[in-house]
Amino acid sequence: MSSWKKGWTFSAWRWEKSLDSEGGKDPMSTTLRRHDIFIGGEWTPGTGDGVQEIINPATGKVIAHVPKGTEKDVDRAVTAARKAFDDVWSDSTPRDRSERLLKLAEAIEAGGDELARMESENVGKPLAPTRSEEIPPIVDCFRFFAGAARLLEGRATGEYMQGFTSMLRREPIGVVGSIAPWNYPLMMAAWKIAPALAAGNSVVLKPSEWTPLTALKLAELAADIFPPGVFNVITGDGEPVGAGIVRHPGVSMVSLTGDVATGKEVARAAASTLKRVHLELGGKAPVVVFDDADLEKVVEWIKIGGYFNAGQDCTAATRVIAGPKIHEKLLGDLVPAVSGLKVGDPMSEDTEMGPLVSEEQLTRVSGFVDRARKSGAEVLTGGARIKKPGSWYEPTVVVPAGPDAEIVTREVFGPVVTVQRFTDEGQALAWANGVDYGLAASVWTRDIGRALRMARKLQFGTVWINTHIPLVNEMPHGGYKQSGYGKDMSIYSLEEYTQIKHVMASLD
Ligand code: NAD
Repeated sequence: MSSWKKGWTFSAWRWEKSLDSEGGKDPMSTTLRRHDIFIGGEWTPGTGDGVQEIINPATGKVIAHVPKGTEKDVDRAVTAARKAFDDVWSDSTPRDRSERLLKLAEAIEAGGDELARMESENVGKPLAPTRSEEIPPIVDCFRFFAGAARLLEGRATGEYMQGFTSMLRREPIGVVGSIAPWNYPLMMAAWKIAPALAAGNSVVLKPSEWTPLTALKLAELAADIFPPGVFNVITGDGEPVGAGIVRHPGVSMVSLTGDVATGKEVARAAASTLKRVHLELGGKAPVVVFDDADLEKVVEWIKIGGYFNAGQDCTAATRVIAGPKIHEKLLGDLVPAVSGLKVGDPMSEDTEMGPLVSEEQLTRVSGFVDRARKSGAEVLTGGARIKKPGSWYEPTVVVPAGPDAEIVTREVFGPVVTVQRFTDEGQALAWANGVDYGLAASVWTRDIGRALRMARKLQFGTVWINTHIPLVNEMPHGGYKQSGYGKDMSIYSLEEYTQIKHVMASLD
């Protein structure tokens, strides 16, 4: 059944009959849910037998099941997306696309509470900030690209050679494969889908195998808004679904947000069909604090920027590099602020930090801290698993053994902040730039000359001055170095989902 033609459908949700003893009833969830995948405007169980259990990391309980997609499902989705592109979507006008994106923004806004709750249950995010800090910018992302769709432009048409008129056409690329991570499932999907659709591409989205629920809900909201096949969602693992998208010859571009290692694999695999690749990868953001910085503000923002989403943020304020005179005072204020963070039930309005997304992530984070401890680091607060059901870890502050320590140079992706002490500006800059990543950085000082000097020299795609973490849809977000290439958000992102054609006409 095509919801595009027949109106609203709830076929996305096949309610499981029993809440039996296998998983037990999750008190935070209304029921266990079984989902289908969304291909060509239809909900389908998929061609494989595999089923993925979706866990609430705050309780460790199963809250839903989704199909483990197969390479056959990828092929079906890409075929549907290609047909939609060729038959309908590539002929759509910017205004048409814009109006549909605005409708989707409206639907997300109207369903914001449900989406926030779903995201919170699936990722363990505190509900209140998910509702207030994630849903509105997601809605705004669709609104921004709805507007931008109507403003795409090329350089002037003209006679650059006598007797010939040259003109530029900015065209969509075709089928875009969008592969998303688990830390901000809906927001990362929005950053990919909105510019791709605005530019006139059709999309096959693969959410993370751990956190597919809001992507499926998004498909449900979009089902009546876009023609069948324009937007498809397949759940499942990196291999075969993600890798299958990258391998498929019918996919013209792949946009991945994920780990650096996954980015390298995707770039290698994409080379065999030379598809365009857009990579938003990991980060290890330095927070360079000079002696003249406003200490209260620094501590307040590290508390937010280092521990928001339990530190599972590619731009997290994770690596503090502090001046010789402020270092001790900073630690004195930061440690009690961090140990006082309210960690607990994500559904409570005053919770500041929830669990990590999974048992695997918990093992990864605690492994980093345990190895750091063994190599001589001092753990000033936290540094241990919180013993209760689910995947909980204490908010942690570490003074590392040295500037090259693993915990300083590798992405931990958890609630762990390191604090180092530098001696002069040159050393601060060298340490800040001394990692493979280049996603985001911040510099804290009242000296405007120094702030601008540092902003120029820091090798990161975003540099904040006297703040850390805010992003806005009009401005680009993306990495330098091994944090990837390609920009999300802003008109620069829209341009990446297009290709330029030169049309030259003889005037004879
Ligand atoms: P991940 O690389 O493990 O997975 C990301 C996605 O890629 C998932 O959907 C996964 O199934 C898929 N995948 C895995 N192997 C694949 C393959 N061989 N081919 C194609 N797809 C494959 O990352 P994650 O653990 O889900 O997310 C955390 C990472 O994402 C962190 O490194 C974080 O810094 C990064 N991230 C970056 C940004 C950014 O804007 N730069 C934003 C959010 C997260």
